[in-house]
Amino acid sequence: MRQELTEYDFIWSVNNLLSTAAKTAKGTPKEYQALLKRIPHFADLIDSMVGLGEPGIVFLESFAEYTDMILNAKAQGKKTCFTTFCQSPVILHAMGVVPLVLEVLTVAGTLIRKSAIGEFMDYCLEAGFTETSCSSQRGSMGAYLAGLAEKPDFVLIDTPGICDTNANSFAFAAAHFDIPFYQLNYPPTIDDDRAIEYHRKDFKHMISFLEEQTGKKLNVERLRELMLEMQRQDEMVCELQDLQRLIPNPVPGIYNLFIYAIRFTLAGLPACTRMIDVMLKKAKENAKANRAGTTSGKEEKRALFVYIDHYAANLPLFNFLDQHNISHLGGILDRYYQEDAFYKGSTSYKTETQTLDAMIDSLARQNAHLPMVKQIRGPYDSPEMWLEEIKRLAEMLNPDMTIYSGTPGCRNTWGMVKLLVNDLEKTGYPTHIINSDAFDDRVESWEATAHRLQEFLDLRGFN
Ligand code: SF4
Repeated sequence: MRQELTEYDFIWSVNNLLSTAAKTAKGTPKEYQALLKRIPHFADLIDSMVGLGEPGIVFLESFAEYTDMILNAKAQGKKTCFTTFCQSPVILHAMGVVPLVLEVLTVAGTLIRKSAIGEFMDYCLEAGFTETSCSSQRGSMGAYLAGLAEKPDFVLIDTPGICDTNANSFAFAAAHFDIPFYQLNYPPTIDDDRAIEYHRKDFKHMISFLEEQTGKKLNVERLRELMLEMQRQDEMVCELQDLQRLIPNPVPGIYNLFIYAIRFTLAGLPACTRMIDVMLKKAKENAKANRAGTTSGKEEKRALFVYIDHYAANLPLFNFLDQHNISHLGGILDRYYQEDAFYKGSTSYKTETQTLDAMIDSLARQNAHLPMVKQIRGPYDSPEMWLEEIKRLAEMLNPDMTIYSGTPGCRNTWGMVKLLVNDLEKTGYPTHIINSDAFDDRVESWEATAHRLQEFLDLRGFN
């Protein structure tokens, strides 16, 4: 690894840039312009966030708050743990554990440590991990393995049986650091009695593991407080997503990323509520004025993402869609299956807080409905799985096209994406596969990705 990449702590560098940008954005225009000149590599990204007004600035502040929590964890006597995007962080916050959500931190790295993130990924190989795994964990994990961020105290995830490459990267990290490791397991079904009973027992064991690691008993009142706050956040997210059904869709495309980045890290905390609140306000204003969420306020086409987004350097996918007046209708990372979700179909979760058992059942059920765990746990065309979910969403969101973006390490989706695309095409939805790696633009440059996307729009008559 180049020596210059080892000069600063990974989390500190992300925190420093975001918090300074958020503060300066609230200063005078002269101070703000002076900052942009001093950060030529990040100026476009910061300027596009600040250009979004309050939601963009609140996002910078919220993410700075999250990285502050990580940096101050030890000083505040808190434990840290490696975890994954499809594990609800509420139980961790309730136990006073700071979640190091590797996938979200990798995205932060692709934005803030652009020239470094590929080398962090490669460092995992030097440490003995496979390069064929999902790159979403490998970026930030490489920084930790290389000693560029403080070693976590333990690992806690919930993916085995759903995504082997995700599970393996956490197992590798636990073995490498020689730290304790807990994995929640998932049976192939969600809703039958045996599955519910299994989730409940597994979740209780996980709480015992957390108590052992932290040396503290679960504070039931604190858990209830966080869950009630999360219930409020769920209701607001459902309201925001309901607005995406309007034509034109008043919700700016980048809000999809804000929703999941904040939820995966800060769910249940006031910073998450504040973030959703400012987005909801802005989207309602747009809806009232019959304005689309694009910069121009116009909507020419609507795109539903069937998997994740593309995160390379300065979030160019969102700019591309915006410049073409294409509304982004969300992707798999925004679907949580709350009881009020418009797309819930025959399965959802409800937040119950009357007793500890009710809370555990709700959280276990919530986890079982998180992205990837819910819809990619088996054959893509089985009931309630990927195809059925996308078709239901498409019927309700009226997209003109559907788009897949992922990572080459994702055997879970690459093993069936062409079948999914064939089915969607037969149903009448023009569908494009982005071949790049959403987290690593060395695999296919954004220019090549944009060229193919433009070609798709041209050939399918969208221009
Ligand atoms: S993107 Fe694919 S490989 Fe990565 S965690 Fe999700 S399912 Fe697993």
